[in-house]
This record gives sequence, C-alpha cells and structure tokens, in this order.
Amino acid sequence: MLDAYGRVIDYLRISITDRCSLRCRYCMPDGVDLIPMKDLLSYEEILEIALTAAQCGFRKIKVTGGEPLVRPGAVYLVFMLKKIPGIGQVTMTTNGILLPQYAADLKEAGLDAVNISLDTLSPERFAFITGRQELNRVLEGIEAALSAGIRTKLNVVLQKDVNDDEWEALMLLARERPLDVRFIEMMPIGAGQNTEGVSNEVLLEQIIEKYPGAESDFAVHGNGPAVYLRIPGYKGSIGFISAIHGKFCRTCNRMRLTSTGLLKPCLCYETAVDLRSILRSGRKREERAERLAWAFAKACSEKPEAHCFEREEDITETKKMAQIGG
Ligand code: SAM
Ligand code: SF4
Repeated sequence: MLDAYGRVIDYLRISITDRCSLRCRYCMPDGVDLIPMKDLLSYEEILEIALTAAQCGFRKIKVTGGEPLVRPGAVYLVFMLKKIPGIGQVTMTTNGILLPQYAADLKEAGLDAVNISLDTLSPERFAFITGRQELNRVLEGIEAALSAGIRTKLNVVLQKDVNDDEWEALMLLARERPLDVRFIEMMPIGAGQNTEGVSNEVLLEQIIEKYPGAESDFAVHGNGPAVYLRIPGYKGSIGFISAIHGKFCRTCNRMRLTSTGLLKPCLCYETAVDLRSILRSGRKREERAERLAWAFAKACSEKPEAHCFEREEDITETKKMAQIGG
C-alpha cells in the first residue's frame, strides 16, 4: 500500500497477546492490568486479517506481544502465516525464555528470523529490569535459536544508570556469534515515559572512539529502521534503532495490529481502526474481507508523516508497549 507521503507500507507487526513471562520496568511493570481473554483476537481472526493484509500488499509480518511464545499454538500460527500467498517473511520478537523449547519447531514452521530482547548480562540487573530471575533461560534461548539455524538479532534497551555501562559487553556477543546486536532507544510510550534511556548518538560516539575501525554496514539486515556498523573481527553487526535521536519516519513501512484487533498507523498516536468489530459483526466472509480491506486503506490514509516523541505533550497513545507489541 502507498500512503499519503509516498511510503510503501508492506510490514505488519502483529501482537498476539498482552501476556508476558517478564515484567520489564519500561514495558509491563508489575501490577499492569491484563486484557480479558475474550477481547483478544483468536488465531482464526488473526489469520483472516493477515490474509487481507497480504491482498492489500503487505509482505512481511512480525509476530510479537506481550510475549508471543506464552500463547499456546504460537508455532502453529507462524506455520499458517507462512502459508499465506504473498507473505514473504514471518519473523518474531521474543524475550527468549521459551526458545529452548520452541526454536526447532519454529524453524520447521518456517520462521525467517527472531529478535531476542536482552538488556543485561548480570543476573541481578536482569532481575531488577525484568522482575524475574530468568537470565540463564534467555541465554539458553539465544543458543537454541542459533543452533536451530534461525537468523538471530538481539534487542538491547539501555537505561541511564541501570545498564548503560554494559554496551560493550553486550556488543561482544556479536563477535563470537553470527548475530546482530541492536541498541533501541527508549521510547516515551507507557512506562517508557518515566524511564530515562540513552541517546544512540552518544553511544555511537563511544563505540567509534573505542573501535575506530568500525565501518558503516549498508547490507540489508531486516525490515526495520536500524542502521548498522561492522566491527572488524565480528561475526555479526551492531545496529541502532534511534527513534528519538535519528528519526526514521521518512522510511517508515509499517502498521501495528494490537492483540485486541486495533490497526495502528503510528506508534505514538492512539488513532486506530477497529478490525475486531468487523470480524465479529456476524457478516459473511466475503463481506468481512471487503470491510477489512477498506479498514487497511483507511488506516493507511491516516498514517501521519512522523511521530512526535520529541514533543511528549502531543503523544496520544496511552496503552503499554506490551499491549501494542513494540
Ligand atoms: N516480549 C517480547 C520481547 O521482549 O522481545 C516482544 C514484545 S516487546 C514489547 C518488543 C520490544 O519492545 C522489546 O525489545 C522491548 O525491549 C521493546 N520495548 C518495550 N518497551 C519499550 C520502550 N518504552 N521503548 C523502547 N523499546 C521498548
Ligand atoms: Fe514482556 Fe517483552 Fe515487555 Fe519485557 S519487553 S515485559 S519481555 S513484552
């Protein structure tokens, strides 16, 4: 689909649950309300939406959450999404805890790549950031994804005075293993509004100072806005997703589907088109397909030129990142 600013929109991020096995402070802090199960889209509903999305020109799907792997049948969903004509790539973002159990099945189901979130290598800090003692299982999850032959990236969110001294230790994971390590700037969404992140501009300066041989890496690494560096001797690359200090809206290619069926043109505004009401309207399948296609066109026409993270007073989205899917 082409939006009003000439951008090709062909990437859909689908949050399949708001549930999660961790309680990351900046995403889903303890005590957050869960959405009643009946309000979450069923897999049949998600697949019906994905089919229309493919007919509208979407080519890439990211399965996310909450934690997608805590929802029973997530591997089956990946398998079914991969069968949709036109969908070239299905990838997943996960906290990694259940990858030792599911990595081989996900590979078999056709998963093209996985992003695993890991903010620290210290067990104490992991417990502080995520509210749970699960670092070892995440590390095992990373190894499981690599052993299964799934293309793997790590997502790191640095927080000031919490884990901002760990950028080098985390980067080193890309030296020994064929995976990319990507630093994501904290976004002022949900609990992220009260958490101080680290500027990727500053981080990049620190990296270049320490690694003067680092070079820009222009190879395509995925569907998103990350820019990459290659460091001599490293098997993987180092990426930067700089929503705040490197606004990338000009090349935005995505829309987001929340676990309750809201199709969001942009992360920072609450503007959304309700697809669940179309699916549950009691209309026939062909009529639903027509209305879903119309809803995609509407969301696309409402896609703003840019986010407004730099003007926090203009952010209208009030949902937590775990509800939207990151
Ligand atoms: N549970 C999965 C995981 O942790 O990868 C998938 C969902 S999570 C919402 C997706 C990504 O969003 C994670 O890498 C997480 O670190 C990131 N994230 C959550 N809240 C954020 C925020 N306020 N700013 C930037 N990234 C955030
Ligand atoms: Fe869960 Fe992922 Fe949010 Fe952490 S970042 S609370 S793992 S959804």
